[in-house]
Amino acid sequence: MLENIYNKIKEYSTIVIARHIGVDPDALGSQFSLKRSIEKTFPEKKVYAVGSKSSKYNYFPKLDKYDNKEENVLLIVVDTPDKKRVDIANIDTYKEICKIDHHPFIETFGEFEYINTTASSASELVLEFLEKNNMEIDQEIASYIFMGIVSDTNRFLFNTTHVTFEIMHNLVEKYNLNVEELYQNLFMRPLSEIRFQGYISENMKVTENGLGYVILTNDIMMKYGVDASSAGNMINNFNNIEEVIVWATISEDVKNNLMKLNIRSRGPIINTVAEKYNGGGHKFASGARVPTMDEALMLIEDLDVLCREYLEKEGI
Ligand code: AMP
Repeated sequence: MLENIYNKIKEYSTIVIARHIGVDPDALGSQFSLKRSIEKTFPEKKVYAVGSKSSKYNYFPKLDKYDNKEENVLLIVVDTPDKKRVDIANIDTYKEICKIDHHPFIETFGEFEYINTTASSASELVLEFLEKNNMEIDQEIASYIFMGIVSDTNRFLFNTTHVTFEIMHNLVEKYNLNVEELYQNLFMRPLSEIRFQGYISENMKVTENGLGYVILTNDIMMKYGVDASSAGNMINNFNNIEEVIVWATISEDVKNNLMKLNIRSRGPIINTVAEKYNGGGHKFASGARVPTMDEALMLIEDLDVLCREYLEKEGI
């Protein structure tokens, strides 16, 4: 499959690389490492990395504007299991689509799809792709892959095996990466976020079944000066609380008129519940967008039932 995707890249002179909505460092890391490597390996090709931007991740390059006027264009989608979550307009106008992803399978929408759910991140899979096909990798490309892996494993808390550490060892050594600088990119935060984290700690409700959740209204986010995407990312800071096995944030997204749920677990499998509400993701890191608060609270109730069943099954 990796060779098939490589052959497609060789075949096309214009390539667009897209990823999921609700951008994060793994989406950008996989997107930009692939873009830069194609540009360096095949300087005559035009490569565009597209999608909505987020000022939070300005340590990655700027995304490209692509006018979608050419006819023979290859689209490569990274880090996205389903068509509806690809952050691109007019996806059906592309001549062919390839996919590189580490999410649980949802649907096929490309001619060639490389999916490996055991990988730590989409960035890891892009690295595998580049190496298998002897494509160019330099320090810049390696740093994007590094940040994608560090971020998606939440600093090696999840999906981390000896393979992950071996990859990191090789990246850091071979490309002489400045780990401290890259960590600063990923983890430096404004004081407003720390104060907001304090608000979440204070206001998280915890049920007797071990479900923790907090409602983040637009007013609260405005008060603390954080946007909906930073609010959602906060979820990763609430791991390893003794009394909590599943935790979720419900953030009000007034711009899109919906409620955004970010959900994490250290036991019960949550993506099946999120899928019931048109969401998805991984077994222990999942999300959904629902139109109303009522529906958000229904999802919360389902998660609580899931926690109860889990505790019963585990005899806890
Ligand atoms: P997040 O909490 O945004 O970091 O998302 C965690 C995981 O759930 C990621 O793999 C996302 O791709 C996935 N996810 C988040 N929101 C949705 C959604 N509305 N639909 C499907 N998958 C989602």
